[in-house]
Amino acid sequence: MKLFAYEVRDDERDYFEALQKELNIEIYLYEGILDHESIHLCEGYDAITTLGQSTIDHSILEELSQTSVGVLTTRTIGYNHIDLEAARKYGISVANASYPPNGVAEYAIMLMLLLLRNYKPALWRIQVNDYSLNGLQGKELRQMTVGVIGTGKIGACVIQYLQSFGCKLLAYDPYPKEGLSAKYVSLDEIYQQCDIITLHSPLNDSTYHMIDSSSIEKMKDGVILINCARGELIDTDSVIDGIESEKIGGLGLDVIENETGIYHLDLRSDIIKNRDMAYLRQFPNVVTTQHMAFYTDEAVKSMVEYGVKGAIALTNHLDFETKLV
Ligand code: NAD
Repeated sequence: MKLFAYEVRDDERDYFEALQKELNIEIYLYEGILDHESIHLCEGYDAITTLGQSTIDHSILEELSQTSVGVLTTRTIGYNHIDLEAARKYGISVANASYPPNGVAEYAIMLMLLLLRNYKPALWRIQVNDYSLNGLQGKELRQMTVGVIGTGKIGACVIQYLQSFGCKLLAYDPYPKEGLSAKYVSLDEIYQQCDIITLHSPLNDSTYHMIDSSSIEKMKDGVILINCARGELIDTDSVIDGIESEKIGGLGLDVIENETGIYHLDLRSDIIKNRDMAYLRQFPNVVTTQHMAFYTDEAVKSMVEYGVKGAIALTNHLDFETKLV
């Protein structure tokens, strides 16, 4: 079994090398993304694995089907960068990754706390020996009503953790779960009643731009919005309007629209064509990070394991727990 790994980061290499020895397979580690320029590199391999920076659309899958590769794994939970219909059409099996939800849940709560305690302006001040307190007075999480949109693995973990902070918890999911310590309500009730709203749903047709000017209009003045899910859940122009009008009191974004090709890369000497990203960064009540909520040692190890073990299972036509196609 020969596996070609695209988008390999330095922090993944040790895990790949250990699996290569343990499972006695051949893995080629390549830093670049999978695209029309690099696709020829995987000729002669049985399977490929990528991260989320490769856009695996119809034309890539069509080209892939003309190579020796019959299996594709993504070492990410999200798979909206892969055209699954096209994979099905060209007979390419696909699996994604899995890792414990705890790291992302902790990260979402960290963003809530940073915004509630005005950490960003406090950090700016300390850099210039300004130790004043005015304007930094915060709020306590236990006083907040928090709305969790999407109560899958990560959303449920957020609810479990927030319970111990003592806040009031509301939730929305088209498929409610039993036994969560949050009250399921409609989306409108989430918008109308919550001081903090955190997004944990997948990106699909029903969630694309779910946060737009009309949903923001329904929210409480000063609402804090957190997005550790996918950038496209939020219409960025609308949240910028919301920040400017002070309708939105705090914004924590680990993900943003059009982040592909920017996040996870060192672009210090480049011209970056994403005006919204630069504009949002200057607000004292907006915290943005480079899609790193998942990024813990435990998660990276698991992502590599799923990428490799999924590729082996699907190549051998065996079932695999995260098989998508
Ligand atoms: P999951 O599949 O376990 O849960 C998703 C939940 O969203 C499900 O309960 C589903 O019923 C619900 N849902 C579906 N459509 C919805 C809608 N229209 N409105 C509200 N809820 C809806 O997924 P997960 O593992 O908990 O991941 C949640 C999100 O977090 C995904 O978007 C994923 O891509 C993202 N994610 C981000 C990072 C990061 O580093 N920032 C890391 C992992 C996952």
